Amino acid sequence: MKSGKSRVLLAVCIALLGIFAAAAAFAAGPNIGVLIYKYDDTYISTVRNALNKAFEGKAEITMQDGKGDQATQNDQLDVMISKGLDGIIVNMVDAQAAAGVVEKIKATGTPVVFFNREPDLNVLKTYDKAIFVGTNAADAGKMQGDIIKNLWDSNPGFDLNKDGQFQYVMFKGEPDNPEAIARTEFSVKQAEANGVKLAQIGETFVCNWDTALAQTAMESALAANEGKIELVIANNDSMAMGAIAALSNIGYNVEGGSKLIPVIGVDATDQAIDAIGKGIMSGTVKQDGEAMGNAVAAITLNMVAGKAPLDGTPYAYDDSGIAVRIPYSPYVK
Ligand code: CA
Repeated sequence: MKSGKSRVLLAVCIALLGIFAAAAAFAAGPNIGVLIYKYDDTYISTVRNALNKAFEGKAEITMQDGKGDQATQNDQLDVMISKGLDGIIVNMVDAQAAAGVVEKIKATGTPVVFFNREPDLNVLKTYDKAIFVGTNAADAGKMQGDIIKNLWDSNPGFDLNKDGQFQYVMFKGEPDNPEAIARTEFSVKQAEANGVKLAQIGETFVCNWDTALAQTAMESALAANEGKIELVIANNDSMAMGAIAALSNIGYNVEGGSKLIPVIGVDATDQAIDAIGKGIMSGTVKQDGEAMGNAVAAITLNMVAGKAPLDGTPYAYDDSGIAVRIPYSPYVK
């Protein structure tokens, strides 16, 4: 009799625990792991903030800083997988290492959304729960090309040697990064398609997206070619800021000054917007980090809930059928 009562009590307790557990899980929402290539990146910080905000009250997220090292990110993924997650978001350190990452996640059946640094989409297509959210890399370059055309038309004084050509130096992010390659190529192609004749001064400076490296390279370029450089094209604003620092040191691009070499970048960082406002930078291209974060969050929540990734969202796939592109927009004064 006594033991029968105990059994009933025990059963009630287990049932209650089950209800509490279900309620707790419901309140906390799904568990989502977020792997970031590195926290110390202005644009990515904007995306992270947007992700945190978008998931608030809807999911429990665990975010990790890959610190620019793919081996570190691989370890972080292993730990996440061992804990068990409902969804994973990956901002690859090295996009070329995506095959191994997809393979590990696929083995768990967890939905995954890659964003920003673009893996080979054929690799993602090997797993039916993998999506990519990025930009159209060529667009950023094309918008730079349009800005170059407007600059050229706006001020004949930019043609310092009056040869009808825009002499430029180019700052590239990384040698093999698809965004860097596309920006470098399409900025020039688009300006030329717009009828501007461009002539490069020196080699392309590969400066790892970095301000200090770009400043050093620009100082060397100016030492060899001062007075011959009429335009600075940079794959991102951080390198554009380095070029501006080098120019400012020798009297160009100073707020309120009379000598300006147009400098254009990509990202629309706070520093760049400030420099454009001061008239010491001529343009940038806005990569909308908030829109990126919101898209990644909405798509992840759909996939985790077992819905179609784009269900109820304003997004559409590109030709690949598994990638969503967040548009860029030009930013000038
Ligand atoms: Ca010229």
